[in-house]
Amino acid sequence: MPRSGHWQGFDWRRERMVHRLEHMGIHNPAVLHAMASIPRHLFVEEALRSRAYDETALPIGLAQTISQPYTVAIMTQLLLAAGKTGQEKVLEIGTGSGYQTAVLQHIYGNNVYSIERIFELHQLAKKQLRSVGASLVRLAYDDGYAGLPHEAPFDRIIVTAAAPELPLALLQQLAIGGRMVLPLEEANGVQYLWLIEKTPQGFHETCVQEANFVPLINEQDEEF
Ligand code: SAM
Repeated sequence: MPRSGHWQGFDWRRERMVHRLEHMGIHNPAVLHAMASIPRHLFVEEALRSRAYDETALPIGLAQTISQPYTVAIMTQLLLAAGKTGQEKVLEIGTGSGYQTAVLQHIYGNNVYSIERIFELHQLAKKQLRSVGASLVRLAYDDGYAGLPHEAPFDRIIVTAAAPELPLALLQQLAIGGRMVLPLEEANGVQYLWLIEKTPQGFHETCVQEANFVPLINEQDEEF
C-alpha cells in the first residue's frame, strides 16, 4: 500500500535515529529492532512530533519528559547485557509517555509492569500503548518508590526518574541474579546512571555515566 509523505517522513527519521544510536554505541540488536519498530512520534503531542526522533528529551506535560532516545537505548541495553531468557519479569518506575514501556514490551513481551504517579500521564500512556498494540503491559497508577511488592521479585527493574538514594523497596524486590538500572542524584545535583546487580553474595554496583532525569518523587516524604 502506498504511504503518505507524512508517514514516510517519520519512517525515515526513525531509521536515521537508529543509525545515530548505533554510532553512539548501541549495539544490542533487540534494542535497535525495538526502537526501529516503535512509532516514537505517537508518544509525544502532535505539535512536537517533528522532533520526536531528535536526540533530545521532550516535554510530555505536567512538568515531565519523554527521555531522549539514547537514554532509553542505553538503559535497555544495560538491562539486556546479561542476556534474556524470555521469562523475565520486568518493572519500570515512571511510565511517563509509555515509550520506554513499549520498548520493554517489544523485547520482554507481556511480563512488563510499569508504575506512574501522575494519573493523567498514566491514562494517556495506557491509551498510547493500546494504539501501538502494546495493551498487555500492566500499568499501575501508584507510587513507584514502593515498587509492586505483590508482584515481586522482578528480574529487571528500570527507574526513569532520579532518586537521591537507592530505593530500599526496589532493592528488596529485585530477584537474585536480577539487574536494576537507575539514575541517582548526588547532593551537588549531579546525576549518574547506575547498574545494580543482585547476587547471592550481595549487591554489585557500577557507575555507568552522567545522567539528566526529572526527580523520582518519594510520596512518603511529600506527606511531611
Ligand atoms: N519512561 C518515560 C518515557 O519513556 O516517557 C520517561 C518518563 S519521565 C523522565 C519520569 C516519570 O517518572 C514521570 O512521568 C514522573 O511522573 C514519574 N515519576 C516520578 N516519581 C515517581 C514515583 N515515585 N512513582 C511513579 N512514577 C514517578
